[in-house]
Amino acid sequence: MNVVFMGAPSTGKGTYAKMLKQDYGLPHISTGDLFREEVKNATEIGIQIKDIMEKGMLVPDEITIQVLKKRISQPDCKDGFILDGFPRNLEQAKHLDKSIKIDAVINFVADYEVILHRISGRRICKDCGHIHHIINIPPNEGNKCIRCGGEVYQREDEKPHIVKDRLKIHEEKTKPVIEYYKQKGLLYEIDANLDVNHPEFRVIKDTKKVLDEIKHNKTHNKQGDK
Ligand code: AMP
Repeated sequence: MNVVFMGAPSTGKGTYAKMLKQDYGLPHISTGDLFREEVKNATEIGIQIKDIMEKGMLVPDEITIQVLKKRISQPDCKDGFILDGFPRNLEQAKHLDKSIKIDAVINFVADYEVILHRISGRRICKDCGHIHHIINIPPNEGNKCIRCGGEVYQREDEKPHIVKDRLKIHEEKTKPVIEYYKQKGLLYEIDANLDVNHPEFRVIKDTKKVLDEIKHNKTHNKQGDK
C-alpha cells in the first residue's frame, strides 16, 4: 500500500505517520528527514541544500527526486510506504506517477491559527529528535529534553518569518497537488485541528479507518485478479 500524507507544515503528518507505521508495517519516508540527515552528515547534497532549507524554500526537484527514489528502492519499501512531505509541487507528483502507483492521499487539514501556534512553539531535541511544544509539552528546565535530557532547540525553518514563507509556498505550490489527487479520486481529508493530547483527538482513528478501507479494497482487487 503506497500512501501519501499531505498537509501544511505542522499539521502533524510526520507524527501521525510515526504513530501508524507499525500497525500497517509500512516505513515512514519523510523527505524533510532525509534532507536533514544529509545536512547533518554534511554530504555533497547536504552542503548544497542547507541554505535552501533554512530559508524554508523548496529543494530543487532534481535533488528531491533523486533522494526519494534512492530511498523507496530500499527493500523495506517493497510492500509500500507512507510518504510524508513529497510530492510538494505538481512536477514532483507527475514524476511520482511515472514510477509508482499511489493508492491513496490523505490530506490533514488544520486552521491557519492552529498551525501557527503549533509550529512557532515547536522545539526539538538535538540528540533524540523528540518534539516538544513550549506550552503543550514544555521541555525541562534549561531547555532540556523530557525524554533524554539533550539540548532542545527551535529549527531554523520554524522561526516565525520563515514559517510564513513556508505556508505561502504550501498555498501556492502544494495546494495544486491536493487538487490533482482529488481529480484522480485518491484524496481523503482528515480534520487535524485537535492536538494529539486533546481528549477528543481522533486523527489516528479517522486515518486508520481510511487506511483499513484502502487495504481491504487492495486485497479484494487482488483476489479478483486471480
Ligand atoms: P519538512 O520536514 O517536510 O517540513 O521539510 C523541511 C524542508 O525540507 C522543507 O522546508 C524543504 O526545504 C525541504 N523539503 C522537504 N520535502 C521537500 C520536497 N518534496 N520538495 C522540495 N523540498 C522539500
